[in-house]
Amino acid sequence: MPQTDSAAEGARILTICNACRYCEGYCAVFPAMEHRRAFAGADLNFLANLCHNCAECYYACQYAPPHAFAVNVPRVLAEIRAQSYRQYAWSNGRYTAGVFALGAVLAFVFARSAGPRFYDVIPHAFMVAVFGTISGFVLAALAIGAIRSAKEFGVRWDTKALARAAADVLTLEYLRSGGAGCTYPTERHSGARRWFHHCTFYGFLLCFASTTVAALYHYGLGRLAPYPYTSLPVLLGTFGGVGLLVGPAGLYWLKRRRDPATADANQNSMDLTFLSLLFATSLTGLLLLVLRASSGMAPMLLIHLALVAALFATLPYGKFVHGIYRSLALLRYALEQRGGR
Ligand code: SF4
Ligand code: SF4
Repeated sequence: MPQTDSAAEGARILTICNACRYCEGYCAVFPAMEHRRAFAGADLNFLANLCHNCAECYYACQYAPPHAFAVNVPRVLAEIRAQSYRQYAWSNGRYTAGVFALGAVLAFVFARSAGPRFYDVIPHAFMVAVFGTISGFVLAALAIGAIRSAKEFGVRWDTKALARAAADVLTLEYLRSGGAGCTYPTERHSGARRWFHHCTFYGFLLCFASTTVAALYHYGLGRLAPYPYTSLPVLLGTFGGVGLLVGPAGLYWLKRRRDPATADANQNSMDLTFLSLLFATSLTGLLLLVLRASSGMAPMLLIHLALVAALFATLPYGKFVHGIYRSLALLRYALEQRGGR
C-alpha cells in the first residue's frame, strides 16, 4: 500500500488508540490492533477491512474532535478501506466492466421482439451469451481481488478459523451494536443496520438460488420459464426480491441519517450506485412477476435484464467487494485469535 495522507493519519490515530485501549471490547479492530506496535501497509489494510464503520468508537472517544488529538477511527479506516479496494482491483478490468455494462444495457434495449413468452422477447441463446460473457469476466475480476487481498492479509487454511470467520460473516457478529454495555447513540442504528444488511445479503443469496434452480429446471428437466407462482424458483426469487427491496431501502435510510463526520464522503457514489442497482433490479423483477401475462411483460423483461447485467458487470468495482475483503479480514482475525500470527 503506498504511503498516503490517510495511511499516515491512520498510523497516527491507531498509535494513540494502542496506548489508550478504551474501545477494546467494541469490535475486532481493537483486539487485532493490540497485537501490533506499528501501523502501515498490509496491517492498515487488514484493520481497515475489519472495521464495519459503526462509529461507536468515535462517540466513545475522549480524544475525538474538538480534542487536539482529533481521533476519528471510523473515517480514517473508511478512507484506507477505499484505497485498499482500488489496490486489490484488477485495474484494467474497470473499463471492460463499463463496456460490458453499457453493451448489455444496449443489447437488451434493442433486442426486443414480440411474443407471449420470455424467450420470444429475448432468445435464450442470446441471454446465455450475454450473461455467460459477463459472468466469466466478473468471476475473473473478483478472483483477482480476492487473491491479492488474501495474500496481503496472510490468510491460510485452518478449518476452525474458517468456521469462526464464516459464523461472524453470516451473523454479522460485529454489528450487534457495539461492545458489552455500549450505550452510545449509534447502538440503535447498528442493530437496524445489521437487520437491513441481513435482508440484503440473504435476499441476494435467495435470488441467486432462484436463478440456479431455474437453470436446473431448464437444462435438467426441460421445463421452460415462466414457472408457476408456487414453483421453487419463483418462491425463492420472490422472497429474495422482497429482501432486496427492504434491505437496500433501509440501508439508504440509515445512510441519510448518518453523522457525516464519521464517514468518507468520497464513497457516497459507490454506495448509492450499488444500493440503487440492487433496489431497481429487485423492483423490476417483482414487477415482471406481476406483469408476466400482460403486454407489459416485454418492456419490463428488457428493463430488468438490462439492470441485472449492469449490476453484475459492476460488481468487482463497487461496494460488493467489501463482502469479500471483510470476510478475508475476519478469517485473518480468527487465525490470530488462534495464535497464528
Ligand atoms: S477511539 Fe479514542 S477512546 Fe477508543 S481506543 Fe482510540 S483513543 Fe481510546
Ligand atoms: S467504527 Fe465500529 S467497527 Fe470500526 S473501529 Fe470503531 S467500533 Fe470498530
